[in-house]
Amino acid sequence: MNADLKGCPVCGEGALVQHIHDRDSEIDGYKFVIHGLLYSVCDHCHERVTTPELSRQNKKVVIEARANALTERDREQRLTPSTILAIRKKLRLTQSQAARVFGGGANAFSKYENGDVTPSDGMEKLLRISNEVPEAANWLLRRGGIPVVQTSVSSAIDAKLALHSDLLSRINEEHFRQHFEALVSSKAAAARGFAREFHHSEFLYSAANDSFQPNRPDVMVA
Ligand SMILES: [Zn+2]
Repeated sequence: MNADLKGCPVCGEGALVQHIHDRDSEIDGYKFVIHGLLYSVCDHCHERVTTPELSRQNKKVVIEARANALTERDREQRLTPSTILAIRKKLRLTQSQAARVFGGGANAFSKYENGDVTPSDGMEKLLRISNEVPEAANWLLRRGGIPVVQTSVSSAIDAKLALHSDLLSRINEEHFRQHFEALVSSKAAAARGFAREFHHSEFLYSAANDSFQPNRPDVMVA
């Protein structure tokens, strides 16, 4: 605690004593703590006062804490080899085409997908934006000389397929995709066919839970 040279603006009699505190915060569900926020309390009237000077300092502290939190969140959410594979498959690229589009050298994607090499921050950002922003992916594909194929599958469905990539790699992806498209376009008959066929396959898609379950009651997939 430091006694502020300035007097209390509320009562005009006390001195402001500076305090330091932490505050819980979050960005899009990512929780972090902001350390070192300042406020003053009058030692006479006990009013809590934040002077413009302290507000300025606090603003800097918050900006820095948020930037650090975003860096930390990104570090914790590194792309896994299977996610990189899923993104490449979603963009319908071979490993060498992916290297042409994203850079990193001829064998980059073989190394990323085998887990031998971790992509750079810049490469991760390129892959993430390509996964989440179709326009960005198309721009990169065109720059890499890859023809952009218009697909009837919405990017939301593609993103969902990418999330389930580990399971999808174990079933016939194209077969699944056709039926999944039919399902989401509300073609009831096709959807019933989908349900019937998948009833006999290794995994069941549950529309209610929006998840896959092995077709065995004794094993559950989160
Ligand atoms: Zn006061």
